Amino acid sequence: MSKVIKVLKPGVGTGRRGGSFNRGRALVAGGAGFLGSHLCERLLRDGYEVIAVDNFHTGKRYNLNVLQRDPGFLCIEHDIIDPLPRDLPVDEIYNLACPASPPHYQADPIHTFKTSVLGSLNLLELARRHNAKIFQASTSEVYGDPLVHPQPEGYFGNVNTHGPRSCYDEGKRSAETLFFDYSRTYGIDVRVARIFNTYGRRMQPDDGRVVSNFIVQALRGEDLTVYGSGLQTRSFCYADDLIEGFIRLMNAPNAPAHPVNLGNPVEFTVMELARLVIDYTNSRSRIVHRPLPVDDPRQRKPDISFARQNLGWEPKISLSQGLAHTVEYFDALLYGSRPVKEA
Ligand code: NAD
Ligand code: UDP
Repeated sequence: MSKVIKVLKPGVGTGRRGGSFNRGRALVAGGAGFLGSHLCERLLRDGYEVIAVDNFHTGKRYNLNVLQRDPGFLCIEHDIIDPLPRDLPVDEIYNLACPASPPHYQADPIHTFKTSVLGSLNLLELARRHNAKIFQASTSEVYGDPLVHPQPEGYFGNVNTHGPRSCYDEGKRSAETLFFDYSRTYGIDVRVARIFNTYGRRMQPDDGRVVSNFIVQALRGEDLTVYGSGLQTRSFCYADDLIEGFIRLMNAPNAPAHPVNLGNPVEFTVMELARLVIDYTNSRSRIVHRPLPVDDPRQRKPDISFARQNLGWEPKISLSQGLAHTVEYFDALLYGSRPVKEA
């Protein structure tokens, strides 16, 4: 059952491409999450009327605080595994709804899989009904534990179908299939981004992903928990860079006929990240090792040639700059020592 948690002001939300919302109406599934809330903010700034749809599984109402004041913003509490209300005319749909952190998506793996598959079907049906353009937040996890390095879009991946990560990886792979089948079958305009590890303001302290874990541990003076040897690699993109990539992909004049990698191609080991976080927080925390989770990918680095050439996009914010902003954010969130820097 959907619940509208903010009613649109009179005259707003009744028409499309009217008044000051000259870009039309965008629906953001997962709009209360880390990336979703940044995307809603950007779309409002760009002149869209924005409807966030979220079940608040990992997203937070306070992520929407800044947005609630905007007359063009509406949030509907709804689980996308159930069909969306039929009378919801939209011009653009962004599907970001899905827990992204391993402990969260593994807590209820069947619901995670349903979110990617049934949720995508429901949003694709909405797009079909209203002839809307639709964006899917896919993931570098579709490459699994990659045997090709760096990973270009043409690499088909190396994914376990039945491990603890499979609900997420295979759910996202199935969603990609659905998106391109809807495009071929019904002519829907689809845009699919394969997102590599992204971090920044509005991550939850208990999110469980590596950047937030390390920063929170360092600020609290706790041991930093490196899983395994720490020699596994990831490439970390700052959220603002990624959102710019979303907008460019969605607005490219021609829809790419395949998913597009979006991420920062500079690769770090997890151990290097731990040391950087200790430096940036001036922390006395120690590094301790914990068991490596099952199927944890050994390496990950995007080949972003397609995005560079066709979207004119590449990340601008280095890991050190991004960590500085994120440390400041968590410091304010945990200790209220400084104002949380917004945008
Ligand atoms: P997040 O967990 O902060 O956000 C996910 C949002 O989706 C939350 O608000 C959550 O409540 C909502 N949600 C989950 N299941 C839902 C459902 N069934 N119905 C309605 N809402 C639901 O994660 P994030 O990092 O902001 O990720 C956003 C999207 O980007 C996800 O789809 C994720 O798979 C994808 N992605 C993120 C990263 C990253 O590094 N941040 C990397 C690859 C892919
Ligand atoms: N990781 C870690 N300590 C933590 C959390 C994660 O060493 O407290 C490791 C994890 O095993 C993986 C990498 O950091 O090798 C990135 O993990 P994250 O969950 O952020 O993303 P993903 O594994 O989905 O890329």
